[in-house]
Amino acid sequence: MDTSVHENFHALGLSEVLLADLTKAGYTSPTPIQTQAIPPAIAGRDVIGCAQTGTGKTAAFVIPIIERLAVLPKGQPQALILAPTRELALQILATIEKLGQGRRISATAIMGGADMQAQVRGLRQRPDIIVATPGRLLDHMWNGTINLAPIKILVLDEADRMLDMGFAPQINQILDALPEERQTLLFSATLPADLTRLVQASVNNPVRVMVTPSATTADGVTQALHHTTHDGKADLLVSLLGQEQDTVLVFTRTKHRADKLGRVLGREGHKVAVLHGDRSLSQRRAALDGFKRGSFRVLVATDIAARGIDVANIGHVINFDLPNSPEDYVHRIGRTARMKTTGRATSFVTSEDSLQLRAIEQLLGHAVPLAPGSASPTFDSRGPQRSARPAQGRPTGQRDRRYAGHGAPRAAQPVQRTPGN
Ligand code: AMP
Repeated sequence: MDTSVHENFHALGLSEVLLADLTKAGYTSPTPIQTQAIPPAIAGRDVIGCAQTGTGKTAAFVIPIIERLAVLPKGQPQALILAPTRELALQILATIEKLGQGRRISATAIMGGADMQAQVRGLRQRPDIIVATPGRLLDHMWNGTINLAPIKILVLDEADRMLDMGFAPQINQILDALPEERQTLLFSATLPADLTRLVQASVNNPVRVMVTPSATTADGVTQALHHTTHDGKADLLVSLLGQEQDTVLVFTRTKHRADKLGRVLGREGHKVAVLHGDRSLSQRRAALDGFKRGSFRVLVATDIAARGIDVANIGHVINFDLPNSPEDYVHRIGRTARMKTTGRATSFVTSEDSLQLRAIEQLLGHAVPLAPGSASPTFDSRGPQRSARPAQGRPTGQRDRRYAGHGAPRAAQPVQRTPGN
């Protein structure tokens, strides 16, 4: 899509009042997802937006909601935004407050872990928009403290993550309680197969808009590669953690590997939390809050769970496993050097990763340099062919005992966990 015609927000046909708030917020030109999603959403169309955090997706749905609600009679909540986590709900609320000032749009947040009565008082103020996590919204529905009948616009934000967190039953109940006649805006970073049913149940003749994350990485991120072996990764990580004081976000490919690595680091005496889709909401909240506060120095996470992480001052992102898609690499390393600070991103690369590494470097448009002190590559990561021979020095047939969990004392669970829901 040609974005040059929409080089500023004026071209999207927004009101002067909202334009003034956008200027105040420092938004000068729309991001690609905003350029594509705002016009059809203002026109009342359903929209499926494929975009990750960091693309400006929140404003892509908040701006049209503000414009549409501003011309409707007040006195009833008319937009409902569902988000997977409390953190995201609060970020959305903050965006509404920032951009809805001039249009006098009010909002309240309904989310788990917060005082029910305070939320009831918030609802009694008859806000224009309700931002909610699915579980707590259902509690209010059962208690009769919320009425969804007046809702005219529904947003499902980070829909893939809500499904990943097991919210499908709650979302279905909420959809059943909403008026059929409504506008729906569904945002998701990925469109996995299990989202199809939700899409069919929620949207009607949607406009599909899609942005891939920018391949431009933040200027402040120093990237580096460590060549290692599958079995050498845990030792390498422990050694790197011992050489620095930074807060570190570690990405693994699977939930299982995140759990195992969390246990290894815990045994090594690190304050570590684990974040992935199989953990309960309260566990995830405790992990993220603890990481934000600094009670955990290390957070081990999988991609989907970490997607919405907006934690200032993450000093170091470590790709313990390379991501499946090069776009995820850009997204992962974007977790550090936020707010124009500096940060580091280190990737562990094994002889099996050469194709993935090449795809990442192609997307970036440059090679990722070797980390100081990293052993030279045991394979030609940038050559046209992957080396067929086993990596030098790789202890064949010998897994890292610590990471593989062999010999680990079964009772020891040093990773701090909070009780379930
Ligand atoms: P999001 O993808 O919604 O999490 O937004 C990522 C960040 O970009 C947030 O800090 C927003 O405040 C900011 N942002 C969103 N849209 C714009 C824009 N058009 N210009 C400048 N910053 C923006």
